[in-house]
Amino acid sequence: MTEAQLRERVTELGQQLAVDYADRAPLVVGTLKGAVVFMADLVRAMQPLPDGMHLEFLRASSYGLGATERRGSVTVCATAPTKASGLAVAGRHVLLIEDIVDTGCTAAVLLERMRAEGAASARLVTLLSKPSRRVIELAPDYCCFEIPDRFAVGYGLDFDERFRSLPYVGVLRPECYATAQSGSEV
Ligand code: 5GP
Ligand code: MG
Repeated sequence: MTEAQLRERVTELGQQLAVDYADRAPLVVGTLKGAVVFMADLVRAMQPLPDGMHLEFLRASSYGLGATERRGSVTVCATAPTKASGLAVAGRHVLLIEDIVDTGCTAAVLLERMRAEGAASARLVTLLSKPSRRVIELAPDYCCFEIPDRFAVGYGLDFDERFRSLPYVGVLRPECYATAQSGSEV
């Protein structure tokens, strides 16, 4: 996706969310670090701002350094953990912001925890979705772009912490991660 395509779609989605949440003061929860760039643009596109909207972040990690396949189970930690998700979600209308929904495991765990912790509602907003990769049934409530099974980088998405600050979304060439996984320079 080019910068222009991202701007257009993210603005459109922000405006839709502003309408859908006009009377519900959402708690917007971004997953670190990948969703930060998307979330920054999205919340600024939510005009007029839903009254009482708050922003929070949590960290969910299911990848090892330099790996493009899931490893192990999803671990969650927030900056001030007081509950399982670390956030005060009870009674709040949560919008979980993801960079990408791949197998669906990360988002499913986070949504389940927020509901268990008493969120009034918990919906999933994602920049990208790879429907062909799902291992569990999970349909994002809001999605900017569906993509095929390729490794996306840029606009917050990284490979081994690289490429996050690219202003567009690109596809990593398979030879890049094949080399990295064998321990050499990308
Ligand atoms: P899931 O739990 O849905 O399998 O994985 C979600 C997480 O995997 C994303 O938040 C992201 O960190 C990582 N991920 C999955 N696919 C991609 C991809 O194409 N590019 C990047 N950079 N990360 C991905
Ligand atoms: Mg992520």
